[in-house]
Amino acid sequence: MRDALADVTNTQTEASAIAREKGWVAPEGYDYEKYTAAPPGEKTGEDLQEDESLPQWAANAAKYEWKDEYGDVGPENPQLEEQLFRSEFINRTGLKIGNLRNIQVTNESRERPSPIRDFDDAGLHPIIRNNVRLCGYEYPTPIQAYAIPAVLTGHDLIAIAQTGSGKTAAFLIPVLSQLMGKAKKLAAPRPNLAAGFDPVTDSVRAEPLVLIVAPTRELATQIFDEARRLCYRSMLRPCVVYGGAPLRDQRDELQKGCDILIGSPGRLLDFMDKPHILSLRRVKYTIIDEADEMLLSDWESDFNKIMSGGDVNEDADHRYMMFSATFNKDCRELARKFLSDDHVRVRIGRPGSTHANVKQNIIYSDPHMKKQCLYDLLLAMPPSRTLIFVNSKNQADLLDDYLYNLGLPSTSIHADRTQREREDALRAFRTAKCPILVATGISARGLDIKNVMHVINFDLPSATYGGVTEYIHRIGRTARIGNEGLATSFFNDKDSDIAPELVKILIESKQEIPDFLEQYKPAGDVADFRDDETDDENEKEDGDSKEGAWGGVQVGATEESAPAESSGWE
Ligand code: ADP
Ligand code: MG
Repeated sequence: MRDALADVTNTQTEASAIAREKGWVAPEGYDYEKYTAAPPGEKTGEDLQEDESLPQWAANAAKYEWKDEYGDVGPENPQLEEQLFRSEFINRTGLKIGNLRNIQVTNESRERPSPIRDFDDAGLHPIIRNNVRLCGYEYPTPIQAYAIPAVLTGHDLIAIAQTGSGKTAAFLIPVLSQLMGKAKKLAAPRPNLAAGFDPVTDSVRAEPLVLIVAPTRELATQIFDEARRLCYRSMLRPCVVYGGAPLRDQRDELQKGCDILIGSPGRLLDFMDKPHILSLRRVKYTIIDEADEMLLSDWESDFNKIMSGGDVNEDADHRYMMFSATFNKDCRELARKFLSDDHVRVRIGRPGSTHANVKQNIIYSDPHMKKQCLYDLLLAMPPSRTLIFVNSKNQADLLDDYLYNLGLPSTSIHADRTQREREDALRAFRTAKCPILVATGISARGLDIKNVMHVINFDLPSATYGGVTEYIHRIGRTARIGNEGLATSFFNDKDSDIAPELVKILIESKQEIPDFLEQYKPAGDVADFRDDETDDENEKEDGDSKEGAWGGVQVGATEESAPAESSGWE
């Protein structure tokens, strides 16, 4: 027994030495004490927050606090500005931004607001124009070029654009810009925080003007971060609500006033059941991010409740927007039920396409060899931020332990970890303290982390795990906003159900097809299947192209407008 233990220790020491030699930083021990100092069951999330040695919750991050005496624009706050805009961990535009631009834009609706070429010609409110500058966004991305004018001209919108192409700012910029001039008139009364805040006498009910819903907690907090940047120096006050973190802190924030509410569905519904804390009666814009995921989840009645503003919404001119990189026909049909007839539909590229900036490799590996294969792959590459996807929570834990024991700096994120652990893991990954993150599908969508150079599908997402749609979102965690990245997937015979669709994606994005996938190649030409997901085809097949399922009349009319001309990418 002793000898066996000694062997394990020796092997671990050797493995650690190898990992260091290859340049990987040392893994940090997991501090279980931090989370379990009180007997199990006695320590709640709320107690944890009071322990100042712990990092704060994402929901409590600093935001610009407006004071009543400010005129139209609040004064600068250099310290906050530094924190919001100049963190070294914010993604910056990469050199291959041109690949995002040379892509076909399809506007399928009757309504076609002209795309903007430049943030200067969009008629934006000066505060937001300045915040866009502070963010370092020089030119609108194609989806922004089309979505901004659509929202500014008062349309509902369905927007489909590839992963990492700036969809968050595409809805935040125009919505915030429209509200900035009117916030004083539209916003609910709220306490003057300049005079100090006494929760007993000063608390107000949150009555946001904008509601943004995202499928996961981490994505909701990321949208909140972008909203904190874009609301800087304005009186619009963003808040985020999500499960797993203390309800009390989130309630306290809401009670100081909330104009922009971002939430993951569960916690949002909790608050909607407490009308003395939150009312959606003033909401003017409802935005659903990753809309196809939200529409297909098993919570139709909850979704209806959110979309109707909890039945109390008073705004006759309520606008709805839905965004995603993937939007299959079923989802599009569901989506149209919620949008007005004159909504705008824009898609950049084919729905569900990946972009040229991700290099996709598929490696054959028998199930029992996958771990070894992963280890060899990690050591063969220069150390870099690497996101590894698996299909189960248990597998995530096992793989994290396996890598950790081999001296590799890994951590993991999945739905059975506490929210504190999830936020810690993500923070450690973002700051490269733990450059290897093992994750389940909860992290597939939306997360925007700088310098993720490599996404590895340790398990490919078979049909039960979201299939090729999930694959697209997973590999979209790398190569964001003009950066390049690598996606490696382990394939074996168990993955054959995803193979035909996977091969189509590879062909379309001009990737190499390994021999073992040759048999899954479609018979026809690439062009034969390229458009099989588009509305034009579907509508024609359905024979209802006039009153097309998307609600437009000129269904299928395609503007082959090179966004180069229209969006100002240079
Ligand atoms: P998507 O939702 O399409 O996947 P995100 O909204 O997460 O993409 O944006 C990806 C990254 O691009 C973010 O880091 C964001 O700050 C950045 N970004 C957004 N718009 C621009 C722009 N116009 N120019 C440069 N960077 C941008
Ligand atoms: Mg997004």
